[in-house]
Amino acid sequence: MAEPAPLTPCPPWLLPHWQGIYQRHQQGQLPHALLFTGMPGLGKRQFVRFVVESLLCQNMNEHTGACGACDSCAQLTAGAHADFSEVIPEGASQNIKVDTVRELVGWLQLSAPPGRYRAALIDTADAMNRNAANSLLKTLEEPGERAVLILAAGQPGSLPATIRSRCQTTMLSIADRNAAVEWLVAEGVSHAEQQLEHARVGPLGVLEQQTDDWQAAEQSLQKAWRDLLLMRASIGKIVESLSALPARRCLANFAQWSLMANKRHLSVPVGADPATLELISEVHSCLSSEQWFTFYDRIQQLYRSDSASFKTQAVLEGLFADIRLSTQG
Ligand SMILES: [Zn+2]
Repeated sequence: MAEPAPLTPCPPWLLPHWQGIYQRHQQGQLPHALLFTGMPGLGKRQFVRFVVESLLCQNMNEHTGACGACDSCAQLTAGAHADFSEVIPEGASQNIKVDTVRELVGWLQLSAPPGRYRAALIDTADAMNRNAANSLLKTLEEPGERAVLILAAGQPGSLPATIRSRCQTTMLSIADRNAAVEWLVAEGVSHAEQQLEHARVGPLGVLEQQTDDWQAAEQSLQKAWRDLLLMRASIGKIVESLSALPARRCLANFAQWSLMANKRHLSVPVGADPATLELISEVHSCLSSEQWFTFYDRIQQLYRSDSASFKTQAVLEGLFADIRLSTQG
């Protein structure tokens, strides 16, 4: 049994997305499989949990979601709801296993109580391996009565096309920008509006970027990128300087900067904070537009690959060696 937990509030900037779902529900047009995607730091996981709790509630509200007072809400807060099931990544690999998904699919075929939903949640759907994802097809093709499957994925491209095509996909965005800015201001973030504009992440991401740890990591990454492209340090030293940072963070930055450098070549405006703009301006001419795009593509692929089988140091060394070789070509 799960630990008791309070009901989940909707991230305020995503409320218009909930209202869309609510209206489809009122019209009897709620699809049985919903997939939510969107940029990092938007609160996707919190949002899908809010949606599930609201759909299970017997008095759901267009503005506030679950009521917090009915039987269903009481079961949810006690951490034991008979008509709710969720799948979470397991073990060191943090993958979702095929047996776990099969069990969920079997459960979802059971009929729901009259007038209620039976809801399943997979809030990190991109952690499913291919077999696990394919085992969802059965429930997507023959859903149980009043069964609803809710998925969230930061990297929906890693889900098989057969799964994506059977879900109604919503790309979440900062649908209520004022609400996002207000929330950031209340969290003590200065220049909230400008920060949100340049961040390329949602409000939760902007908040995370205020921490000293995040800022220090950003400076290490910028130094590493300069050292690599301007030949200021050996590849071994540069890789070592990044050893404390998560591989995905490194790759996400390098991909973004490659794309920005490519844009700079093509005279497309680049939106970023002043420090990043300065970095791009210093290094963009080290590679041609085509080379930047090729590396962007390669880094994106690395980013999407299975991080469990990832030898960070070897991957970065290989990538950096090729970039260096290209700068001399
Ligand atoms: Zn309720």
